[in-house]
Amino acid sequence: MIEIKGLSGAPGRGFGKAIILENKKVSTERKTISDSCAEIHTLTNARNDYKRSLSALTESAESAKNKTEAGILNAYIEILDDDVFFNDVEKIIRQENVCASWAVEEKRRETAAKFSSVDDKYLKSRVDDINNICVGVMKKLQGISDNDSLTFAGNENFIVFAKDLTPADTVRFDRKYLKGMVTEKGGLTSHTVILAKALGIPTVVGTGPFPQGLFNEDSVLIDGTAGMVVVSPDDATRKAFETKCKENEKQQMLFYTCESRAAVTRDGFHIHVDINSGDKESIRTFNAGSCDGIGLFRTEFVYMGQSYYPSEELQFQIYKDMAVKTGEKELIIRTLDIGGDKQLGYMNLPKEANPFLGYRAIRLCLDRTEIFKIQLKAILRAGVYGNVKIMFPMIANLEEVIRAKELLEEAKADLTKHNIKFKRDIPVGIMVETPAAALLSDKLAENVSFFSIGSNDLIQYITAADRTNELVQPVYNNHNISFLRAVKLISENAHRCNISVGICGETASEPSLIPLWCAMGIDELSVAPALVGRTKYLVGQMSRKELIPEMEKILSSGSIENCNHCLSRILESIDYEK
Ligand code: PEP
Ligand code: MG
Repeated sequence: MIEIKGLSGAPGRGFGKAIILENKKVSTERKTISDSCAEIHTLTNARNDYKRSLSALTESAESAKNKTEAGILNAYIEILDDDVFFNDVEKIIRQENVCASWAVEEKRRETAAKFSSVDDKYLKSRVDDINNICVGVMKKLQGISDNDSLTFAGNENFIVFAKDLTPADTVRFDRKYLKGMVTEKGGLTSHTVILAKALGIPTVVGTGPFPQGLFNEDSVLIDGTAGMVVVSPDDATRKAFETKCKENEKQQMLFYTCESRAAVTRDGFHIHVDINSGDKESIRTFNAGSCDGIGLFRTEFVYMGQSYYPSEELQFQIYKDMAVKTGEKELIIRTLDIGGDKQLGYMNLPKEANPFLGYRAIRLCLDRTEIFKIQLKAILRAGVYGNVKIMFPMIANLEEVIRAKELLEEAKADLTKHNIKFKRDIPVGIMVETPAAALLSDKLAENVSFFSIGSNDLIQYITAADRTNELVQPVYNNHNISFLRAVKLISENAHRCNISVGICGETASEPSLIPLWCAMGIDELSVAPALVGRTKYLVGQMSRKELIPEMEKILSSGSIENCNHCLSRILESIDYEK
């Protein structure tokens, strides 16, 4: 029996035979060519050829009504259609007289390096997409058929093992028999993981090199929830696993049925469960029926996908499309949260010693007001098409809120002057994600319509532990009592002023913390789309009245260990299997 540990990519458990995919290596040799025009012609043919393959896969995904799959493949086609990227590749061929494969590889490496230095999980995971697309084009250039690397046609349950997988790879497997996927590489927000979650395929990623003792056809158990794989399990392990699988299947069905229902505690406290969005994929696959709205629409992707600032018109179209999709349900658009180490080449931001404490988000927008006002006008205009709200990130004092609202009024005046329709009474809220905002939340609440707690940042600033540094993850702890006390304070101050308070960081969907969010009277939890059902189910298991004294005890004890213990006990007391 061999255990392989990795990261939990997509939850769920499965059992089957190991199929190890040996990806045929594409060559990245630098070859000099004499006719750059002919080489560019070959590149264009390879690009078109790859696009045809992807279009065929998209069509079959569409006819099988696999919307997520089709969406991801379409996104690949869009990247493939991106002339800016391929014009650069052609330039490399022309200037350096190198073969097309080498030029694609050179551009791929440059782009990957640029994206990798950005501190944004979503953008980092787009590196995987660009890599996959480049490899796809290079395979076409080198005449390597996709079937060379994916020859398996199974007729019994199987678990795929690969160095890495693309969404296009994933859709080639026979879904009837595919019970899990394991990859040596891969991030938690890669498109393959998004797709695996949507399709309900248990997935473990980032295992590092597979052990020598793993062979094709070995029996394998995969636990996507725990990020664990067991090769050639013994009888006891297998039995325990089968019992867990049965429980898990029932639970998934239950979560699914909760998606479209209201999340109400046993004693009648209603919490809105929204989703976090902010990428083309989640926009394409958004289903208003399976959540209560969008609690956080990150707008950075609009700026990141550009070689210069996006125009008001472009932004308006994107926000408007989303507003139409969300309809009467709320759409909270967060203004640009860039800066620090989320750099944008064309912004020429200074290098900083402490980027997370630096020139980012609202600080930058209040400095570069012209850029900010363009975004504000686009959001105001989109407001006509749905239930749009506006939210300012990284607020650290009252003056920032007042100034941001003044600029919003200036944006309204501009639109009025030009006779352009917009939502005059747009609700304005702030993210409470700095300790300064938490401590001033009584005053801030008098000046805005809602709060949304950015717990990802609030934990890092309260615990003084960088959210991206694995060495301090034990300190960056979502059960830290100071953080929990801050959430309670923010919630009380919001309610004292009759405004709503939500949480849009990852803690919103953390099962162990949901009892505390109910006890604190949090009005809204904004979570990853796949976790809406689970979150609503867990809320439905709670009794707010019973949890309030538990919460008081946890917060007054001051101990993280005691908090862990009490919260585990609460979870164990309800019908919920991890
Ligand atoms: C947060 O800080 O919790 C948050 C939702 O914002 P981001 O993760 O984009 O910083
Ligand atoms: Mg934040």
